[in-house]
Amino acid sequence: MSAPGPYPGRVTRLRAALRRRGLSAVLITHLPNVRWLCGFSGSAGSLLVSARDVVFFSDFRYRAQGRRFEYAGGSVEAVAAAVRHARVARLGFESDRMTVAAHGDLAAALTRSELVPLCGMVEGLRAVKDPAEVALIRRAIAIAGRALAVSTRRLAGKSEIAIASRLQAEIRREGGDEESFPTIVASGARAALPHGLPSSRVIGGSELVIIDFGVRLSGYCSDTTRTFSPSKWDNKSKEIYRVVLEAQHAALTVIGPGVKGRDVDAAAREVIERAGHGKHFGHGTGHGVGLEVHEQPVLSPRSGDTLAPGMVVTVEPGIYVENFGGVRIEDMVLVTETGREILSRRIPKLLER
Ligand code: ZN
Ligand code: ZN
Repeated sequence: MSAPGPYPGRVTRLRAALRRRGLSAVLITHLPNVRWLCGFSGSAGSLLVSARDVVFFSDFRYRAQGRRFEYAGGSVEAVAAAVRHARVARLGFESDRMTVAAHGDLAAALTRSELVPLCGMVEGLRAVKDPAEVALIRRAIAIAGRALAVSTRRLAGKSEIAIASRLQAEIRREGGDEESFPTIVASGARAALPHGLPSSRVIGGSELVIIDFGVRLSGYCSDTTRTFSPSKWDNKSKEIYRVVLEAQHAALTVIGPGVKGRDVDAAAREVIERAGHGKHFGHGTGHGVGLEVHEQPVLSPRSGDTLAPGMVVTVEPGIYVENFGGVRIEDMVLVTETGREILSRRIPKLLER
């Protein structure tokens, strides 16, 4: 039997969160949440957490992976039997993650229990990382930095797809498990598309190239962006780049415990608006990163999330000018007791402030 690791402590925190909602049990169906609670990394599984038990449900392929907890098949009947056995009157479920069909099946099988919708409960707990999680994120970022340095030695004359596939190969060579999301390589006018997937376009000399990519390592993700100019920086590109860098610096400087997500966003947005590019910055300033590339908290104009020590977020302002190009600079930041640590600071930026 392996060491219990972080899982019993996480289950305890979930039970406390459930009690605050007046519930004693929840069915966890979102896979990253299942993984965070029990370490299961397969593609099909769910978890019943009640006041006394944790029961893992999956099909027979994953029976061994679920060995930490009682194992009970993968069918809705198995779930219903465990819920009855635990005498659960009101069962929480992840309403933002369950299909209407699955909910219908569950309700039909559980005629004596009330189903109570819960939204983002485990995600809220997952937002604060423990030191082992932060260590994996640091390693993923280090791999990302090495892979990027090798893959971008020469950009001009290569296609966006060629750069993206080189990056993918280097991620594996450096020890990463895979890309944490499909790599974005957007050059020239295509760099005005914030999420341009790589095309066969050949990268020229004096133009902007946005590369946004991530590494997954033991489940944990990195997510960073750098903007390049393959040969010479023209004045307009340089001006935009410096505004984005300034905006990023402003946002990074306000990050700390107790700060609202919307205030971090406002710090970046103000710099970009003052430079006359407000309408060219159409996305939020950042997001949490962990087992998923996009998770809590959110750093956007409407975000009510509050930063706390242990959270890992991106700060990624951008300016996108149609028919010209764009700049995005994205770093990953750990919220500490006293402020912040920029985890991706060793990935070089092309121009400094
Ligand atoms: Zn990104
Ligand atoms: Zn991002």
